[in-house]
Amino acid sequence: MKPFRIAIDGPAGAGKSTIAKLIAKELGIDYIDTGAMYRAIALKLFRTGTDYNDPEALAELLATTDVDYTGGSVYLDGECVDGLIRTQEVSEMASASSAVQAVRDKLVALQQAMGERKSLVMDGRDIGTKVFPDAEIKFYVTASSRVRAKRRAEDMKAAGQPCDVDQIQKEIEARDYRDSHRANSPLTQLPEAVVIDTSRRGIKSTIELALKAIREKGYVKE
Ligand code: C5P
Repeated sequence: MKPFRIAIDGPAGAGKSTIAKLIAKELGIDYIDTGAMYRAIALKLFRTGTDYNDPEALAELLATTDVDYTGGSVYLDGECVDGLIRTQEVSEMASASSAVQAVRDKLVALQQAMGERKSLVMDGRDIGTKVFPDAEIKFYVTASSRVRAKRRAEDMKAAGQPCDVDQIQKEIEARDYRDSHRANSPLTQLPEAVVIDTSRRGIKSTIELALKAIREKGYVKE
């Protein structure tokens, strides 16, 4: 059967991964978190002290680095790094290093290979524009920066970390700006994408809306 690729793009903290995971579970297909893959490369840059602006050093690092996403976890050179990639430092490094073409070329090739034979849900910033421009359905998931900052602050409070909503909002807006103004694969809202604003929409209604749109596009269970 022809793979059915579901592309979900949008800014940080809009709820993409929550939605993507639930859709994947409901449909019984794989979920790939591409942000985690960019974060894994960022972690390697930190660990090795490599400057991503040095083309030779970066090429050497990319040629000797293995990144994989499987079973809901991201692996860097065979090590599960789920617990190490959600820090502020890694977020900043991922946002900066993902603007470099060589980094994108490596990860986009891996992601395209993942969708060659299997149906999947993939979330990121360039899934509908670059990874699967011919995806069977594309979503653009967004929310106001205030709502996204509040959600992040709640997560941090729950984890016992001190936080300041205004500061988080500033960081989110700075990252949005970088992700949507870079020369390589900027975050873009495509005209064909189904737009879901989660600012005032709960998770249940969001998933119902998304599943309805997927079925309307002719999704058939494998
Ligand atoms: O989605 P997440 O916040 O985990 O992504 C981390 C960073 O990786 C983003 O800020 C973005 O710059 C980058 N990214 C990207 N393309 C993707 C996914 C993530 O450039 N497909």
